Amino acid sequence: MADTVETLKQYGLNTICRSALCPNQGECLACGTATFLILGDQCTRNCTFCAVSKGAPLPPDPDEPEKLAQAVAALKLRHVVITSVTRDDLPDGGAGHFAATLRALHRNVPAATTEVLTPDFCGQEQAIDTVIAAEPDVYNHNVETVARLYDLVRPQAKYNRSLDLLTHVKEKAPGIYTKSGLMVGLGEEFSEVVALLQDLRVAGCDLLTIGQYLQPSPHHLPVTRFITPEEFVAYKEAAVQAGFVHVESGPFVRSSYRAHELFTLIGAGAYDSGHGSKFGYSDER
Ligand code: SF4
Repeated sequence: MADTVETLKQYGLNTICRSALCPNQGECLACGTATFLILGDQCTRNCTFCAVSKGAPLPPDPDEPEKLAQAVAALKLRHVVITSVTRDDLPDGGAGHFAATLRALHRNVPAATTEVLTPDFCGQEQAIDTVIAAEPDVYNHNVETVARLYDLVRPQAKYNRSLDLLTHVKEKAPGIYTKSGLMVGLGEEFSEVVALLQDLRVAGCDLLTIGQYLQPSPHHLPVTRFITPEEFVAYKEAAVQAGFVHVESGPFVRSSYRAHELFTLIGAGAYDSGHGSKFGYSDER
C-alpha cells in the first residue's frame, strides 16, 4: 500500500480511493485495481452526499493522461478505473481528457482492462461519443439514488438524463459493458429501488453496484437508515432477476468495488464475451 501511495505521489496523481476515504482500498489494490480521479479535485457541482471539494477548478493538466498510464504500468494494475469531478466549466465537460487518458492506457498498458466512471456531461451526446470512441471496456455512470430523491441528493443532475446517457452508450457501442451504481439508506423505498433497476435495464445497463450511504461529515446529508444484510441480498436478487449480468450489493460496496472480477469471470467463460473489448475489439485504438 505504501509503495502505491508513493508511486501516486511521484506521478502527482489523485485516486478517489484516497480522497473519498474508501473502506475497500486495501482489498482493491491487492487485486490490482485502483480508481484514478482526473481533471483535478474541485467539483463544479454540489451533491449533498459527496465529500469531494467544491470550487473553481484549475485547467486540466495536459500531461496527466501520460503520467497516469505510466503510474499504472509501474503499479502493474490489471484493471484501471478512471473517474472525475464534474467539470461543467469545460465546453466538453472533460470528455476529451477522458479519451486522451484511455488512449494513453491502451498505448502503455495494452493488457489492462479499462473502465470509465463519467459525469453526465450535461447530456451532450458529442461528449459521450468522444469517450466511447476511445474504447473503454466498461462505461460506468452512477444514478446514485431513486428519482424522488434527486433534488435532495444531487440537485444539479437529472434522473432521465443519467438514464439517457447509459441508453446512448449501449445503442452507440453495444460491445461496451455499461454499469451504474446507487447508494441506499437515504430514505428510498424498496419498491422505488426495484423501479430504478427496471429503468436501468430498459437503458440496457449490464452491471450494477449497490452500497450503503455513509455520511462523510456532519455537513453532509444524514444517513436515514442502515440497510440490513438481508435487504442487500434482496436487492441483489431483484437485480439478477431484472437481468443484470453482474451485481455487487453490500454495505461497503462502492462503484469500482471488485470491478476487475467481471473480467476474471469472463476469462473463466462465466459470461458471454460477445461484448467486445479484449475479446473482440479491433486493435486500431
Ligand atoms: S458531481 Fe460527483 S464529484 Fe461532484 S459533488 Fe456530485 S458526486 Fe461529488
